[in-house]
Amino acid sequence: MTRVFVVGNAVSDVTLKVRRFPRPGESVLAESIVRAPGGKGLNQAVAAQRAGASVVFVSALGTDATASEIENALRREGFADLRLLKPVHDTDVSILTVTVDGENAIVTTVACTQASRPENLTALLYDLRRDDYVLMQGNLSMRTTHAVVDFARARGAKIVINAAPWHWDGTAILEKCEGVIANEGEMCEIHGPGDVQGSAAWLRGRGPRWVIVTLGANGCLVSSESGTLPVAGHPASVTDTSGAGDVFSGVLVASLARGRSLTDAIHAGQKAAAIAVARAGTYAAIPSIEEMAHIAE
Ligand code: ADP
Repeated sequence: MTRVFVVGNAVSDVTLKVRRFPRPGESVLAESIVRAPGGKGLNQAVAAQRAGASVVFVSALGTDATASEIENALRREGFADLRLLKPVHDTDVSILTVTVDGENAIVTTVACTQASRPENLTALLYDLRRDDYVLMQGNLSMRTTHAVVDFARARGAKIVINAAPWHWDGTAILEKCEGVIANEGEMCEIHGPGDVQGSAAWLRGRGPRWVIVTLGANGCLVSSESGTLPVAGHPASVTDTSGAGDVFSGVLVASLARGRSLTDAIHAGQKAAAIAVARAGTYAAIPSIEEMAHIAE
């Protein structure tokens, strides 16, 4: 079976529900607090695994008590393979503020995630084979991401990058990928403000076989050999949109690894993301294995 190697971060999410975001210099009172495993890498790996892919999750975790809690949660997920580096560090933390309207604003630390040396991560990809998928996000350092991408390309693996968060200098990494997924804000930072359709087509012209720009409730735009076309999303009653892009990316790549077409994989990703946005939390909102099986039917 084609495997999906998710190489990314695992953090401790602290979600604070607020009536509205604080303005600069202001404090607001939170209505609730929820702690859970998180991080784009972890969320995408869990989504892909529940969607039926054979997932190898490669990540750095700290050496503190939080790291053990996250590791236990990951072991309960039943990954095909869990490859964890343990730099001597506290586990990274994401503070997610979520408003009653479901909007979110997130700050994530990366010290632990970025403490791993590129060669330590690539060493964990020793059995990566031609046609396996490698799914990455923007939380690793540019140097490590380059090293993993170059290693994966040399093995003939298919690389998909969810360009979130976008903080790299130039598109050199994205040009080496099979696919790129970015939301509207990220695409704007990659190519500058302007028409997203044009930006998606521009990026695709630089190398990737396909580029997807996610558009929240409006679904997404896909640029591929068939042109640049909008794909409607699935209706949802929104509770909390944090992690929508993670569920979308994880399920999309899981579906591709299971041999589905790009169109079918996009539909599966959007269906799963519509379920997730109707629920509170990020990890807690990822559809279950049973729900994913229903989506794949
Ligand atoms: P990100 O979470 O990375 O910012 P988006 O908000 O664009 O990404 O969402 C990713 C995908 O999740 C969208 O393409 C869409 O399929 C789904 N989605 C997000 N928000 C909604 C919503 N309000 N209703 C239905 N689907 C949504």
